[in-house]
Amino acid sequence: MADRVNRWTSLGCRLLCAAALSCGPFVVPGVAEGTPPSPSANTDFPIVSEARLAGDAKQTRFIVDLDKKIQFRAFTLADPYRVVVDVPQVTFQLPSGTGNAGRGLVKAFRYGLVMPGGSRIVFDLTGPAKIANSYVLDAANGQPPRLVLELEQVDRNAFTQQLALDDRPELRPTIADAKAAMPAEGTPNAKPGEPADSRPLIVIDPGHGGIDNGTQSNGELEKNLVLGFGLALRDRIEKSGKYRVVMTRTDDTFIPLNDRVKIARSQSAALFVSIHADALPRREGDAQGATIYTLSDKASDVEAERLAEAENKADAIAGVNLSDEPTEVADILIDLARRETKTFSNRFARLLVSEMKTTARMHKHPLKSAGFRVLKAPDVPSVLVELGYVSNKGDLEHLVSENWRNKAVGSMLQAIDAFFAKRLATATPDTPDK
Ligand SMILES: [Zn+2]
Repeated sequence: MADRVNRWTSLGCRLLCAAALSCGPFVVPGVAEGTPPSPSANTDFPIVSEARLAGDAKQTRFIVDLDKKIQFRAFTLADPYRVVVDVPQVTFQLPSGTGNAGRGLVKAFRYGLVMPGGSRIVFDLTGPAKIANSYVLDAANGQPPRLVLELEQVDRNAFTQQLALDDRPELRPTIADAKAAMPAEGTPNAKPGEPADSRPLIVIDPGHGGIDNGTQSNGELEKNLVLGFGLALRDRIEKSGKYRVVMTRTDDTFIPLNDRVKIARSQSAALFVSIHADALPRREGDAQGATIYTLSDKASDVEAERLAEAENKADAIAGVNLSDEPTEVADILIDLARRETKTFSNRFARLLVSEMKTTARMHKHPLKSAGFRVLKAPDVPSVLVELGYVSNKGDLEHLVSENWRNKAVGSMLQAIDAFFAKRLATATPDTPDK
């Protein structure tokens, strides 16, 4: 037991402490640094075996059953009203659909990994509420250890006051900081004396991850489909030898939208490709095929607007404090860069459409634009690819087919080659290509 605690605390703490988060709520005092957990340690994580809600719209209680006691931290977030419970990494063994239906003050809840060593439960509230009480109970009277959260209805004022209390720096949710503090995978780290790798750097961004499943259909989750696709695309691009590749994620971890953009910018990426798979709400009929999206202030049509709104919700879903986001700085230079970047993004999007249509089924209007937050790097040409609709039978068959994936990945590499061929050809020594 001590060994297990030691192992997870060590990793969780290293990540969290790197982000200047007080380890207080999570840490067993006096635990020394150890070796990070091995993959086989996964089976050692505490198990959450049941979750239930009780009460009414004034007072709502949430209870989960555990196989051992854990430490936790609970806090509220505004706009939208949410309650977040952070725990060390746990294994959720809950029936599918758990959390879809709410009760009382809870509209719905979801759960999952938000970072290595850290799991999270996020509650969407029906209105402002405070955490009146929260505690972990020992096993007693035939009941397992339980984590209990008691919510109480309050007015907006009282909610805001509690937020201020929750917002003490040592209590802030810091996924974003923890991620930013981690070295990005594939960071070009030329040793002194070695020439830097000047090949263009491409960032591949599989959408969603961890607590955020994205769209789903027939048991297939967008986060898994797009990760599989992204990894296959990385392998194909690397095999060509012409480019460097950095992934925003290589496993089932949540990455905030801003961090995805930050990774592209900090690495001076030459291209950013976000990979997703859409779903059309059943009442809106059926749609099929791949669509390539670029950034614009005004959505190109209603569907593009719906989609950008859905994709931009990722941070709210994962319990990220949206009010913490930096406001965009207006700057004439950024404006100029943005304009040039837009031209490149649009060119790559057109190349992608013309290459992908030879192997993949395309949407009837395959080129669209809307205000996707993940496409907002002012200086990195960026596109978001919706590979298809998980809600469409034929598309879903493609999305889970390795054969289809290989063909689609091949077309994408063709488009990438075409994109960089022209830029490299027109680059002069005075305006080196990135
Ligand atoms: Zn998505």
